[in-house]
Amino acid sequence: MKRFLTLALTAAMSLILFGCGSGEPVTAELYAMDTMMALTAYGSGADQAVAEAKTLLTELEKQLSRTREDSEVSRLNRAGGAAVEVGEHTAYLLQRAAEYSAAVNGAFDITIAPVVSAWGFTTDAWQVPSQSELDSLLAHVDYTGVTVNGSLASLEAEQAIDLGGIAKGYASAKIAALFVENGVEHGKVELGGNVYVRGAKPDGSLWRIGVQDPNDPAGYTGILSLADAFAVTSGGYQRYFQQDGRTYHHIIDPATGYPADSGLISVTVVADAAAAPDSGTMCDAFSTALFVMGEEAAIDFWRSGGYDFELVMVTNDDRVLVTAGLEDAFEPMEGTDYTYEIIH
Ligand code: AMP
Ligand code: MG
Repeated sequence: MKRFLTLALTAAMSLILFGCGSGEPVTAELYAMDTMMALTAYGSGADQAVAEAKTLLTELEKQLSRTREDSEVSRLNRAGGAAVEVGEHTAYLLQRAAEYSAAVNGAFDITIAPVVSAWGFTTDAWQVPSQSELDSLLAHVDYTGVTVNGSLASLEAEQAIDLGGIAKGYASAKIAALFVENGVEHGKVELGGNVYVRGAKPDGSLWRIGVQDPNDPAGYTGILSLADAFAVTSGGYQRYFQQDGRTYHHIIDPATGYPADSGLISVTVVADAAAAPDSGTMCDAFSTALFVMGEEAAIDFWRSGGYDFELVMVTNDDRVLVTAGLEDAFEPMEGTDYTYEIIH
């Protein structure tokens, strides 16, 4: 009886210590979907939310990985054009990807997969493919070849897909929903370059998210102060190899089959998670797409207003372009060689 009382007391104490909005965070670090992930959550449902998030990440990796033979994506890629039964995550992502590809005129295209493989990014056996190999692979790169009908999906016979440009953003949006459902009041989710922040920090101040310096990824071009937001960065510095004095990165321009050479060296897309809880997926697709499109087309796309997002873009001539909606949120890093411009 006495022992039970002690236990109950301990439980009550930990509830007081850890159960309310602030107190100690629940944290998790894991490697999944080809990247380091870190989760932090505060609030009564934090334990449950983080546990559910870890289960979800494992499940997403299982269904969406190109390198796991039993994933839904691998089954689609092997199907030779036949229809394949897919689950809700894959079906949703195929639909979203098609919509975003159309919005950016194919700069984002999940059927780029065979080209990504030809460069060796799927296996880390890097190489520069021949032009004739690229030409024959590019003939089948076309996002309109992907069909989804309920839970049945199919590609064209010679096609394969790679969800690496959108899956982590989707994962961050699903975790955002888990955080909200479970009553997490404050939290931060980092899935590689995909960041989500829930609420403000426990002390009421904004979360500070560094925008990495593409020329020196240990440093930052600036800091974003945000609450309830997604911030997703694509950069050539995140995955690349060097050969004969040249650098080849993992974001491929579907128009050329070569690593995008648009003049942008990183693109961060920011969206309001309170207004649009599922916009993490959009941020991920557009960070990849706008990196391919380059400064002018990216700014035109932002100005066209079809989607609600803001941008921080770094150019290869040392300019940092920040769209007007982030003017107050973005604080340039002191002592860098960058010049900073607000885009209206
Ligand atoms: P991200 O880090 O989100 O910019 O995505 C880059 C990843 O998406 C690459 O590692 C490839 O797996 C894939 N990818 C590369 N180029 C494209 C593209 N143009 N459209 C869609 N996915 C791409
Ligand atoms: Mg992306």
